[in-house]
Amino acid sequence: MNIKDELYSWFIRNVAVPNSFDFTKPGYVLSKTISGSDGMMLRDVFIPEDLVCDLEVKTVEKLGTNGNRLLYTIGKNSSYIYAKFCGIETIKTKTKEKDYNKYTKSLLLFLGGIYGAAVDYFFDVKIGIQRASFSQYVVCRKNGIGDLFLAGSAAGICSWLLQDTTTEVVQTECVGRGAAKCRILIASPDKIKQLGYAPIEFPTLLDLEMSKEYTSLNKPRNTINTKTSLRELLKNKTLSYKNGQITFCGGKYFNCDSHYIYFLEWLYNDDVFLFGLAKEYYKKLGEAMGEKLGKQYITDILGAMGWGDIAINDKKEAQINYYPYTDLYAKTKYPIIRGMLSGLMTALYKEDTNLLNAKTSLEKDTFSLILTG
Ligand SMILES: [Zn+2]
Repeated sequence: MNIKDELYSWFIRNVAVPNSFDFTKPGYVLSKTISGSDGMMLRDVFIPEDLVCDLEVKTVEKLGTNGNRLLYTIGKNSSYIYAKFCGIETIKTKTKEKDYNKYTKSLLLFLGGIYGAAVDYFFDVKIGIQRASFSQYVVCRKNGIGDLFLAGSAAGICSWLLQDTTTEVVQTECVGRGAAKCRILIASPDKIKQLGYAPIEFPTLLDLEMSKEYTSLNKPRNTINTKTSLRELLKNKTLSYKNGQITFCGGKYFNCDSHYIYFLEWLYNDDVFLFGLAKEYYKKLGEAMGEKLGKQYITDILGAMGWGDIAINDKKEAQINYYPYTDLYAKTKYPIIRGMLSGLMTALYKEDTNLLNAKTSLEKDTFSLILTG
């Protein structure tokens, strides 16, 4: 199979959301909205599965069930905005049960294509319960938690689909807890309780409109420092693609809408923890890059994964032009990208490097971050 076919089958095979990706531009990973014909694009980034795994495990260790709730809340808020911005249809437009079922099934297949194989979907409309199962879903297959990218995310998307933010999701069985499949129940909290499960209830979601700033600041522009696109790095095998997943230096990466990063940083509200977690992972990643590790390589890899046009200077500071913008930009101090670059720079300079400050700048249609020690 040639690269074009592989990518085609990866992203397009299950396209139910008439949604496709553009990863031909250095610094950007873009997903088209349903009304993509007018040039609307959403900003995505690729993140490591193992880092998210670690985030969930440590959060639950630290906060117990409040940790599960926090992760779920972040997933539900992020995916609700993703579904809305993407222009995913709803039960109000797919009014016939048959149409809704068909649409939702193909939507889950599409999401399954990115996050793990979706194998089954069933909607019992009379009792208002939807069920889905997945064979290998990212993250929870490894840690048995999955509140962020499975339960929480499914709750956000289904809240949008059903136009009802009281919709909740519980994962009743999980591969990471020894089951054959990950199974979710999608219903109102009362119905979930009647079945003997305890849903996390989080009906109040932040609503955002797609702003002028969002569309103009995320519009792809020519980068100066980041030279290669994700497509090129796949072509030259710097990154590899197998069974629907990208791997780099032995770790799996998957894409998510950039709102996830913003909601995570804002709602988690523990910059020191998120910074430390990202730094530790990316320090090891930098060491695993071996002799290829260099300023340009860091810039190219992170740029291809959608994080913008990154320049690292000799004072061990970084500037990122065209960092993914959302209207939540003033609500975070950017601990994740600061941690990522601090880890990589620590490995590169063989000296502990900490980018502790982030300053944002909005000038001439360019959203930039200036990261300093
Ligand atoms: Zn699972």
